[in-house]
Amino acid sequence: MTAPTPGDTMQHSTFIDGTSLGGDGERIALTDPATAQVSAEFAQSSVAQAESAVAVARRAQAAWGSRTPGERSRALLAWADAIEADAESLADAEVLDTGKPVTVALDGELPFAVDNLRFFAGAARSLEGTGAGSLSDGYTSVITRRPVGVVAGITPWNFPLIMAIWKAGPALAAGNAVVLKPAPTTPRSTLRIAELAVESGIPAGLLNVVTGGADVGSALVAAPEVDMISVTGSTTTGRAVMAGSVERVKRVHLELGGKAPVLVFHDADIAAMAHAVALGATYNSGQDCTAATRVYAERAVFDDVVAVLRAQIDAVRVGHPRDADTDIGPLVSASHRERVSGFLQRAVAEGAELLTGGGRPDSAGFYLRPALVVGARQSSEIVQGEVFGPVLVVLPMDGEDEAVALANDSAYGLASSVWTRDVGRAFRVSSRLDVGVTWVNDHLPIASEAPHGGVKQSGFGKDMSVEPLLEYSVTRHLMIRHAPPPSTTGFRPA
Ligand code: NAD
Repeated sequence: MTAPTPGDTMQHSTFIDGTSLGGDGERIALTDPATAQVSAEFAQSSVAQAESAVAVARRAQAAWGSRTPGERSRALLAWADAIEADAESLADAEVLDTGKPVTVALDGELPFAVDNLRFFAGAARSLEGTGAGSLSDGYTSVITRRPVGVVAGITPWNFPLIMAIWKAGPALAAGNAVVLKPAPTTPRSTLRIAELAVESGIPAGLLNVVTGGADVGSALVAAPEVDMISVTGSTTTGRAVMAGSVERVKRVHLELGGKAPVLVFHDADIAAMAHAVALGATYNSGQDCTAATRVYAERAVFDDVVAVLRAQIDAVRVGHPRDADTDIGPLVSASHRERVSGFLQRAVAEGAELLTGGGRPDSAGFYLRPALVVGARQSSEIVQGEVFGPVLVVLPMDGEDEAVALANDSAYGLASSVWTRDVGRAFRVSSRLDVGVTWVNDHLPIASEAPHGGVKQSGFGKDMSVEPLLEYSVTRHLMIRHAPPPSTTGFRPA
C-alpha cells in the first residue's frame, strides 16, 4: 500500500446531487498529524452550498422514501461492498487526516464500518409499525412508520468514517435523505464514501457532503428543510445544535462527550484489567468518547492496580501510523496536543502526581506519551473534564457504595466498566451506574447490534442497533372507518 501523495485527494470538497465540486467557502490547510506537514489546501463548502445540498436532498427524498425496504436494503448492501473494495484507500485517508495507525484503520475500523452498514441494510427490512387491527368499534387502525425527511449528520474528527456510516446508514435505511458534514480537518473519507454510494447505485441527491466548520454546521441546523439533526461531538456543540433547533422544533440526536469510570474491586483479575484498561485509555490516542479515563480501585488493591497499569501504559508503543509495530499514533493536531498537555500541567500544579508519560517524543508530529496520574482530587478538572487524550487517572475507593457514588459524580454518562469476579457484585454495581453502557471485565468492545449512546450531558439517541432507524422515522396512525358512523363522535371507550 502506498501513502497518498499530499494534496492529491482534495480537488473537491463538496458532493451534491451525485457530483463532486470545488468549495465556494473559506480556505483551509489540512495537516498530517504524523509529520506536521500540510497535506492539502482547498476551499471548503460555503453556506450557500450547504443550503443547495439541503434542497437537493429534499427533492431526492420522496422517491427514496417510497422505495420498498428490500430495494433500499439492496442499495445499502451494494454500497457496503463498494466501501469494502475501496478499504485500502479509505484507510489511507483516515491515516492522513487523523494520524491513527494504518493497521487500526484497515484491519479494525474499515471492516467494522462495513459490518455496521450491512447491519443497517438488514434492519431496513424489519422497520415495522407497532400494530394493526380494530381498536374501536367500526374502525380499523394501521400504525406505520415513515421517514423523518432530510437528516443533517454532523460528525467529529476522531472516527470520521465510522461516524459518517453511523449517521448515513440508518437514516438512509429508514428512507431519509442525508447531508453529511464531517469535521473540518477530517473530510477525506466522508467525501469518498459519498462518491462510492452513487457509484454503487444509491440515487444521486440522497447522500450529499458539505465541508466546513461551525458556520456550515449551524447553517444546516437552521435550514428550514432539514427535519432532523444528528450530531456527534462535544457537549458544547450539542448544546448549540439543540438551541439552533428550537425555533422550528426540529428533532435532534446527540452523541456527546464522555468520561468513562473504571471500577476495580479487590477480587478482580488485575492483570486482565490492566491490559484492557490501558488499551481502553490509549486506543485512538485516547481520542474516544468511551475511553477509560478514571480508574477507581478498591484501597486493598490500589497499589497493585497502579503498578500494573503503569507497566502497561509504559509498554504502549507510540510511533508513526504507518509503522507496523505502532500501537498509537499522534494526537490529531498541535492545538489538541496543547490542550491535553494543559490538563496534565494544571493537574500537577494542583498537587496531583504524574507517575509516567506526558512527554513528547522527538519527532515533528503531534505525539504524546500516554500518561498515568494519581493523587488528583475527585472535584479536579482532570477527573471531571473530558481530556480526550491518552491520560488515565487512578483514585482509591472503599466498597460498592462509594464506587458507584464516585462513578456517577460526573456531568457525563456514556461508558463505564466494572472489574470483579463476583457476578452478584457485577450486577449490583452496573445496574446503579448512570451510563449508556457498562462492560463487565472488559472495556471498549462494541457490536453493530448493540445500541451506543449516553445519558446526562453525554446526550440522547442511539447509534448502531435498530434504535437509530426508529429515531430517523416517525410513527403514523391511519384510522379507517368501515361501519356506519356512531351516534356520537369524538372520544369513545374501546
Ligand atoms: P466538536 O463538537 O468540536 O465538533 C463536532 C462536529 O460539530 C464538527 O463537524 C464541527 O464542525 C461541528 N460543529 C461545531 N460547532 C457547531 C455548531 N455550532 N453547529 C453545528 N455544527 C457544529 O467535536 P470534535 O472535537 O470534532 O470531536 C470530539 C468530541 O466528540 C468529543 O467531545 C467526543 O466525546 C465526542 N464524541 C462523542 C461520541 C459519542 O458517541 N457520544 C463519539 C465520538 C466523539
